[in-house]
Amino acid sequence: MLDCIFCQIIAEKISAETVLNTNDIIAFKDIKPKARVHILLVPKIHITSVQTAESRDQAILGKLILAAKKAAVKMGVLETGFKLLINCGKQGGQEVDHLHIHLLAN
Ligand code: 5GP
Ligand code: ZN
Repeated sequence: MLDCIFCQIIAEKISAETVLNTNDIIAFKDIKPKARVHILLVPKIHITSVQTAESRDQAILGKLILAAKKAAVKMGVLETGFKLLINCGKQGGQEVDHLHIHLLAN
């Protein structure tokens, strides 16, 4: 998606501080962190939101949570704990229309 900021990060047209980069997922630091650790876990395929996710997206949705665990290990917060948050749609606080999980830890 040309007008999607996360697709542009995935295509390396916009830079981001990458924490994980696999075949199907990228994780990078949020540009406006709301906690000491604030990482975004993003599937490389453009899924707009949980609201539009379908059964064919099941595997990538599972992989995103395991990628969040890996990012938590990398950031040194696996044992102390962290929050995973998905904003869904306008009233759910979603500003970027490319599905992502926030990993937050202090
Ligand atoms: P949402 O509100 O959609 O759940 O979260 C979008 C998040 O993306 C926000 O926390 C925002 O700070 C972050 N964000 C928006 N644009 C960029 C960007 O260009 N680079 C990075 N690293 N994060 C961004
Ligand atoms: Zn996108």
